[in-house]
Amino acid sequence: MAFRASILTLYPEMFPGPLGQSLAGKALARGDAAIDTVFIREFGIGKHRMVDDTPAGGGAGMVMRADVLAAAIDHASPPGDERPRILMSPRGKPLTQCRVRELAAGPGAVILCGRFEGVDERVIAGRSLEEISIGDYILSGGELGALVLLDAVIRLLPGVMGNALSGETESFETGLLEHPHYTRPAEWEGRSIPDVLTSGDHGAVERWRHAEAERITRERRPDLLQGEAPRRRRSQENS
Ligand code: SAH
Repeated sequence: MAFRASILTLYPEMFPGPLGQSLAGKALARGDAAIDTVFIREFGIGKHRMVDDTPAGGGAGMVMRADVLAAAIDHASPPGDERPRILMSPRGKPLTQCRVRELAAGPGAVILCGRFEGVDERVIAGRSLEEISIGDYILSGGELGALVLLDAVIRLLPGVMGNALSGETESFETGLLEHPHYTRPAEWEGRSIPDVLTSGDHGAVERWRHAEAERITRERRPDLLQGEAPRRRRSQENS
């Protein structure tokens, strides 16, 4: 069964959006992945199909209603649906390559995109939503977060990435940031390619790449090097 994502959103026309292009677009066209949308407003209350209301306790903005969201979730994810139910949320666990890999190995995901101030807290517990953040900044809605998550997942699906090997040496897969890349021309604006890369000595190339990956990780993301092997550390964070 192909990976299937159901997106609950007030803006269904945002999908597949950029995922209709390039690698993901081809995967969707081939049927290796499928994205469907559920328009939350269809589950809204009354003539005006209200989906939000003022926050209990007062304050700015609007909150998406638990009853409306639960109806949309139950429609998208009936009993027996094994897919994880995700809420895009700045309070969520930061998305990692490890979680992306787990999702790619599974049947798909049901993804709720928040808007306004967010969602009524009760629906998070009431429908066992896993809160996932794509970073420490605030988006205006969960849709771009869902697109980011799905882009990362779809490129890992079997047969999607042309050169499967390139996936294994990439940043985060090895626990290190990736080494620098070069291609022709050999000289550009007075800058040349490091000699070792054109030496033909594959062992030396490997050693250089590993040393560069370590140097760049130490400089830019020392947090990735701390403690035990980063790969294990990250998978534990997600368990
Ligand atoms: N009032 C909230 C922000 C709401 S932003 C707060 O201060 O935490 C509106 C919606 O955008 C959220 O419900 C969520 O679905 C989405 N969103 C915003 N930032 C996000 C992020 N960093 N990662 C994932 N989703 C995010």
